[in-house]
Amino acid sequence: MDWLLTFLIALFGPGLLPGAAPAPGGDGGVTIALDPLGADEEGPLPRVTPARGPNPPLVVIDPGHGGRDPGAASPHVASPEKDITLALGLAMRDALAATGRVRVAMTRENDRYLILEDRYGIARRLEADLFISIHADAAPANDAAHGATVYTLSEVASDREAALLAGRENSADRIAGARLSRDPGVNVILIDLAQRESMNISADFARLLYREGAPVFPFRPDWHRFAAFVVLKAPDIPSILFESGYLTNATDAAYISSAQGRQQIAEGMRRAIEAHFARRLVLGRAG
Ligand SMILES: [Zn+2]
Repeated sequence: MDWLLTFLIALFGPGLLPGAAPAPGGDGGVTIALDPLGADEEGPLPRVTPARGPNPPLVVIDPGHGGRDPGAASPHVASPEKDITLALGLAMRDALAATGRVRVAMTRENDRYLILEDRYGIARRLEADLFISIHADAAPANDAAHGATVYTLSEVASDREAALLAGRENSADRIAGARLSRDPGVNVILIDLAQRESMNISADFARLLYREGAPVFPFRPDWHRFAAFVVLKAPDIPSILFESGYLTNATDAAYISSAQGRQQIAEGMRRAIEAHFARRLVLGRAG
């Protein structure tokens, strides 16, 4: 999709690459989010693990929350969500680095606060091929809810529960007092095209993750859902948000915070990512 972005830059000029211009219609609408390459994006970039072969793809793994944003708490394990997501993310990176088929970068490797735009901003600056945000779910009113869920971006959150979850995960930015910048002058339709292709590839990856993961660790019956998470809104990078399990469910909480659970989830993720890029390579050759 580089051609499309090049075209957009030619059309609008680099100064006009928009911040976020919300689609009309309010709640749940797809936000068009192309960060300007300005002062916000000049921080140091994370290190990238090496990989074998020419032009290995790059995956950015984003452990949710961190620093002053602990995420959800569990009544069953002491670790807050931010620690569980970091341990899971590091296990995924190590599993991918061990086989060396893809390059990996982490948005954070320690207990550090990042605003949501910086998370996918890092992926955009690195020109990543896939962005994976790691989280752990919570359903305080229903401790029977359990299993993993893969979220991809949609124009409208699939239901009220998903919309509420998106509200919770997105609220980290209100903690920082940061706001999305807005540029009403952007041509929404053209950027929407790029976003649509990313959404389709993201949904393909979600299916692969279920195929590779479900034999090993539990998924919810409705394992693929749609929501308007801010971190999924890089229009040019296929992105998923992975809720690894429920901190409010005793079995899930123990599993996702255990060494065995981490290992199994990381292996399922590794197989899915490697299959995804093997498939993309074949499709690219066919095309
Ligand atoms: Zn979370």
